[in-house]
Amino acid sequence: MGDRYALIGNPVAHSKSPLIHAAFARATAQDLHYGLIEAPLDGFAATVERFRAAGGRGLNVTLPFKQEAFALCSRVSERARIAQAVNTLVLETGFGDNTDGIGLVRDLSQNLKHEFSVVLLLGAGGAAQGVVGALLEAGARRVVIANRTGSRARALAERFPGALGCDFDSLPAEPFDLIVNATSAGLTDEAPRVPASVFRKKVLAYDMVYGRETPFLAAARSAGARTCDGLGMLVEQAAESFFIWRGVRPQTRPVLEKLRGA
Ligand code: NAP
Repeated sequence: MGDRYALIGNPVAHSKSPLIHAAFARATAQDLHYGLIEAPLDGFAATVERFRAAGGRGLNVTLPFKQEAFALCSRVSERARIAQAVNTLVLETGFGDNTDGIGLVRDLSQNLKHEFSVVLLLGAGGAAQGVVGALLEAGARRVVIANRTGSRARALAERFPGALGCDFDSLPAEPFDLIVNATSAGLTDEAPRVPASVFRKKVLAYDMVYGRETPFLAAARSAGARTCDGLGMLVEQAAESFFIWRGVRPQTRPVLEKLRGA
């Protein structure tokens, strides 16, 4: 069956990660199997340890465990240290990395060819934590982080010069050219409460949730904004994780085109 990898989270059943990694493995002739593990909310570390003891080589981590994964690592990359959240674990060494930021930035620059300077980032959970540093490094002049729980956004913003944190009711009036929804609201058909006026014509409204028309994307589209879901980010962050585990960089475009076609 080859080396074993998996996505661990709660919930995970909806994930396309197994399809993506299977396609990468075929294209690069790597002998591996990538599965799904739903960990109990109070049993993340024990579930990781069981998988490792049974020979598991690596894990991707999704909500709500990215911060717990960070705490579990014996060594982390610089970008994971800055994010204080880990989405990629190498189990032989206890190494943790975060590929969400580079995944989002590659999707924006290489697939969507969208330039940005003033960014509104909605959410302050594990996914948001992973992308602030990468957005600033990729050229964002300012990142406003807005979250339902404003204190979490303010605490996250304090770690980055160029970032500002607030709740949805105290958004500064800035000419955003990119709005990234990094909340999990779309999973329950809800939308973060942002005024429709943020969706200007040249804005790209990007929802990290993929494969469904979320209320956030619907509101942005009806206000005339360009919209995109998070499938490209998913494929790009997966490719970076694959590279960390296998030392081989798979091509992302054919996999993304196939998933979009399907
Ligand atoms: P998380 O750590 O659980 O954080 C959830 C965030 O969503 C928090 O900021 C929370 O606000 C907010 N939230 C939840 N329900 C909300 C609602 N009804 N209205 C407004 N805000 C709400 O989750 P995460 O790991 O950051 O993941 C967030 C989303 O990004 C998930 O849907 C995940 O699937 C997606 N994601 C996609 C990719 C990709 O590659 N496409 C990568 C990473 C994540 P509070 O702080 O107020 O609770």
